Amino acid sequence: RKRTVIITGASSGVGLYGAKALAARPDWHVVMACRDLAKAEQVAEQVGMPRDSYTLMHIDVASLDSVRQFVANFRAKGRSLDALVINAAIYMPLIKEPLRSPEGFELTMATNHIGHFLLCNLLLEDLKHSASGDPRLVILGTVTHNPDELGGKIPPRPDLGDLKGFADGFKAPIAMADGKKFEPVKAYKDSKVCNVLTMRELHRRYHDSTGITFTSLYPGCVADTPLFRNHYPLFQKLFPLFQKNITGGYVSQELSGERVAAVVADPEYKQSGAYWSWGNRQKKDGKSFVQRVSPQARDDERADRLWELSAKLVGLA
Ligand code: NDP
Repeated sequence: RKRTVIITGASSGVGLYGAKALAARPDWHVVMACRDLAKAEQVAEQVGMPRDSYTLMHIDVASLDSVRQFVANFRAKGRSLDALVINAAIYMPLIKEPLRSPEGFELTMATNHIGHFLLCNLLLEDLKHSASGDPRLVILGTVTHNPDELGGKIPPRPDLGDLKGFADGFKAPIAMADGKKFEPVKAYKDSKVCNVLTMRELHRRYHDSTGITFTSLYPGCVADTPLFRNHYPLFQKLFPLFQKNITGGYVSQELSGERVAAVVADPEYKQSGAYWSWGNRQKKDGKSFVQRVSPQARDDERADRLWELSAKLVGLA
């Protein structure tokens, strides 16, 4: 029996190459959970994924209705679930006004955190029953969540404040976690702090009782994924060159995908609560290590409060 992994946002970048790397393993089947199935099908073929190594399923992770529908559709297929990769994300550095999800939440937080929070909660049940004996839930992190590291020092810095935006419902006019003025780059970084807090809180609440391994990873700076598609064209040209030649942080999409696959499948990554990194400067044969997350992302009280408030927003509490 093949193991099944669901990857959100598998139609591009890290998710696509993670899907490719896992589909290439004989013992894994990939569910590509994507908002644009025609595109997903096309890119899966382009990167050479064998047609029987994956299944395409629709999800709009920013929509709570769509997340619930996805879970129902997945269950109807009767597959056991062995791993879930929370990967889909948006980054909209140039917008001036917040966009809104179908339920009215600010769109960056809705996509990167809120919808995924619901998805994790619903699929915990399925992961618990995994026949593999080694279920895993992996959430993509990023260095920019962490002002303690070089890659995270460029302002604006993430700051969830006292989570007032969550407490107040995150709908208009609320646009930020701290309840302050909309700032799109900070919104992305804040959402990634929420991703790490969610991973750590999942670990704290559910690892012992379920045996699920909860982890995050920073795959390196994958400077030429379309994540930067909403940035200035000149930035899109220069950023990969900068990362390749100046910071040394550059990682190819292919390598980022292999790192995702390793964290999902390899025995050495079965360490719940860990945040994996290969460092900011890529050395040849660079080894992975467990990295300390940012002060806000390792704040247990904040993790617990974010969990309770997020549960309310998605209708679980
Ligand atoms: P991409 O923009 O290349 O891919 C994002 C994926 O998310 C796409 O498949 C996109 O779909 C999907 N997506 C966006 N919104 C939705 C939605 N509402 N519903 C369903 N799917 C959606 O980004 P990356 O591959 O670069 O980033 C992937 C992850 O890796 C993110 O979590 C990011 O934070 C993380 N990361 C990236 C780094 C980098 O340097 N690139 C560094 C560290 C972490 P579509 O194809 O339809 O647009």
